[in-house]
Amino acid sequence: MDKLSPQQRHNNMAAIRSKDTKPELIVRKGLWRRGFRYRLNHKRLPGHPDLVLRKYRTCIFVNGCFWHGHHVTIASDDSEVQNSPCCKIPHTNRQFWLAKISRNQHRDIDEQQQLARMGWHCITVWECELKPKLREQTLDSLAYTLNHIFLQNHEFRYAEEVLLPNGMDVAAERKERN
Ligand SMILES: [Zn+2]
Repeated sequence: MDKLSPQQRHNNMAAIRSKDTKPELIVRKGLWRRGFRYRLNHKRLPGHPDLVLRKYRTCIFVNGCFWHGHHVTIASDDSEVQNSPCCKIPHTNRQFWLAKISRNQHRDIDEQQQLARMGWHCITVWECELKPKLREQTLDSLAYTLNHIFLQNHEFRYAEEVLLPNGMDVAAERKERN
């Protein structure tokens, strides 16, 4: 039985779409296939990252090129704006769009800085990098980056454990061997 009015149905569909936007799904499926496991839309982290990989201490944002102003530089006085192939700012209501996109850009930077201070790595995957021709390459390099981060985190921890208790000895031993 269908108890939703057309308007309610429309709202539901819109909510579902905004939650599972296609580019995000591509990243989720691509990472899952490559053996990565994640949490979605972590509400307690700044910016509600689209994917959170705790084991890798990494947040992934999947950004739409238009809304987040990919490759677009907006000067504070709006004097010079460089369009990009994937983010063309409309000429109609231009000031409105410039202000909106600039705000989004600043918020993105701010949220990622907050996450970095909390010890999280942040990776942004752009919509244009997920076009069919680039998709697999993008996902491969994402997987590579994650493995690299894991290794780095791990080495760092290992170095802390080995070097901190008796750092001088280890350093001296190394020198002797060289
Ligand atoms: Zn783009």
